[in-house]
Amino acid sequence: MIAPAARAAIATLLGPRIAFDAPLARHTSLGVGGPADALALPQDLEELAALVALAAEHGVPLHVLGGGFNTLVLDGGVDGIVVRTQRLRALTLEADAVTLRAEAGVSHSQVVRLCAEQGLSGLEFGAGVPGTVGGWITMNAGVPDAETGAVVREVEIAGPGAERCVRSRAEMDFGYRTARGLAAGAVVLAARFTLRSGDRARVRAEIDRHLAHRRTTQPVDQPSFGSVFKNPPGAHAGALIERAGLKGLQVGGAQISPRHANFIVNRGGATAADVLALIARAQAVVSAATGIVLEPEVRIVGRPAAAGPTEEQRAVSTEEQRAVSTEEQRALRCR
Ligand SMILES: Cc1cc2nc3c(=O)[nH]c(=O)nc-3n(C[C@H](O)[C@H](O)[C@H](O)COP(=O)(O)OP(=O)(O)OC[C@H]3O[C@@H](n4cnc5c(N)ncnc54)[C@H](O)[C@@H]3O)c2cc1C
Repeated sequence: MIAPAARAAIATLLGPRIAFDAPLARHTSLGVGGPADALALPQDLEELAALVALAAEHGVPLHVLGGGFNTLVLDGGVDGIVVRTQRLRALTLEADAVTLRAEAGVSHSQVVRLCAEQGLSGLEFGAGVPGTVGGWITMNAGVPDAETGAVVREVEIAGPGAERCVRSRAEMDFGYRTARGLAAGAVVLAARFTLRSGDRARVRAEIDRHLAHRRTTQPVDQPSFGSVFKNPPGAHAGALIERAGLKGLQVGGAQISPRHANFIVNRGGATAADVLALIARAQAVVSAATGIVLEPEVRIVGRPAAAGPTEEQRAVSTEEQRAVSTEEQRALRCR
């Protein structure tokens, strides 16, 4: 619930670009989840930064959704404001011909298309990693031999309050599917990438290789949110789940993909509770068999439906995704 004063201030700032009590299911790739108290579609970076500051001033929680390709929204919906960055799509090649500046809502296909046209190398893997630049940075999205953080030069950030700053790649402290230098509640406005000038045909061939590999190994024709779990050190989450005999397991409309066991697909009519049940089941069975606790890669947001989570679902911890102390968070803030 957003208090009336905050609601009025947000409505004044965004006008028609805010909707209250807005369903979120069609804003994520899996297509499940309840409504947001408010869904904002800022039209430019200034408006997004102003919204971040306003939310902090009124104590309203703010969550960003890029493409929603790695997010599970729970059935009870999300408290506060959910921001979608889809209008922030400016993408420019700078004068040195190897630096891209991309606003947070620039899509993977925009970036990959420009790289192919210009023969720029470094982000070819992104052809099969759907989402936005903001999502790529936050998740340090990548494949086994390449990741976003490796080609980031700097990131423009707003928040968590009214502050704005620019962080270098080193300050972003990228790790496996994480950017530890991004404070909780901070928002990526834009990023600069330094790429290598390469051969157009070779860049295109590399893009095609990534896409072909996905088509043969992943359920790309069904709604999913990509890898459910991070790979534990020295192992593959998918192989552990497959060995535990869970491939094809279905709860309601959600299923552990028969093609790739680290994917959960929506076969139609799935709820977030169905997905959580599968996540909890995979964690429990793999842990009992191997002692390895699988950590979700997918970002889980919102609250369960009114009936509340089952005992099993409660065991799925989203806390470790934010397990950074308040003191560390303070140190990460823009100054
Ligand atoms: C078929 C398929 C295959 C996939 N394969 C891969 C793969 O090989 N490798 C890989 O790494 N991922 C993969 N993914 C997952 C997904 O593509 C990536 O995680 C991608 O980075 C998600 O981007 P997004 O914009 O959709 O992020 P979202 O799902 O919208 O958000 C993800 C996280 O980023 C945060 N976020 C988004 N934008 C911002 C912003 N501007 N500021 C602050 N926080 C922000 C969100 O709050 C959330 O915590 C796959 C997904 C699918 C569906």
